[in-house]
Amino acid sequence: MDLIIWFFEAVARRAPTSIQVESTRYLVGAVGTWLVVWVLLSGVLAPRKIRKPTRRAAQIRRELLYSGSTVIVFMVMGVFVYEGAAQGWFRFYSDVSDYGWAYLILSIAGLVVFHDAYFYWTHRVMHHPKLFRAFHRVHHLSKNPTPFTAYSFDAAEAAVNFMVIPLYCMIVPTHDIATMIYMWMMIVRNAAGHCGYELMPRGWTKNPILDRFTTITHHDMHHEKMTGNYALYFTWWDRWMGTEHADTNARFEAITEQGDRTIRVADGQRA
Ligand SMILES: [Zn+2]
Ligand SMILES: [Zn+2]
Repeated sequence: MDLIIWFFEAVARRAPTSIQVESTRYLVGAVGTWLVVWVLLSGVLAPRKIRKPTRRAAQIRRELLYSGSTVIVFMVMGVFVYEGAAQGWFRFYSDVSDYGWAYLILSIAGLVVFHDAYFYWTHRVMHHPKLFRAFHRVHHLSKNPTPFTAYSFDAAEAAVNFMVIPLYCMIVPTHDIATMIYMWMMIVRNAAGHCGYELMPRGWTKNPILDRFTTITHHDMHHEKMTGNYALYFTWWDRWMGTEHADTNARFEAITEQGDRTIRVADGQRA
């Protein structure tokens, strides 16, 4: 009982700052991506639309509602991490010179690789028919995603997704700046990954290094088909486990080739 009261007091104390941090990150990441891709660059990017637009008003309203719930879950869990850090549960450190800048950058790269593996496996598990309804149904209500799909989760899925940070910080010494930089990178990449337009340059999947990184088409196909292409940043888990849709790269190249050709023709007409 004392533990519950202590936790509620901690949430009440940290809520104003924490909710500000989480909602700012969401607004800049998701609304910023929407503003840049869907408003400012919509004309230029139109030929690179991955699928035909569908009715979005009700979908976006629902996504914003669930994103609000995700922000609250992240806020509460953020308090758990702050308080846990004070109790010494995590290997946070505050002086950069303890490990140096090269280590700090490496720890962010480590978090990217760790999160990719964590996301692949928790995502696959949440697709199990016995868990799908409770954990992952809301995210897949968005069959044709928008930048606001990025945080549109059931509360249970939001909690699972957040756990990657405390788990990593229990194992690896991590500076506050590293988690902050990573959380910003994550929301921007996540919103871009759901934006519905292919943003990567043509030839991406033909380059042996770039082909290791997922394209926007990769996750868009996951929403379209409701299965396969489970990974977040890298293509290797889907390939090792045989869950990548065989036509993913062909779809990507067709979209970017057709998109770039249309843009060239339009430029020629204007010239
Ligand atoms: Zn899924
Ligand atoms: Zn998604």
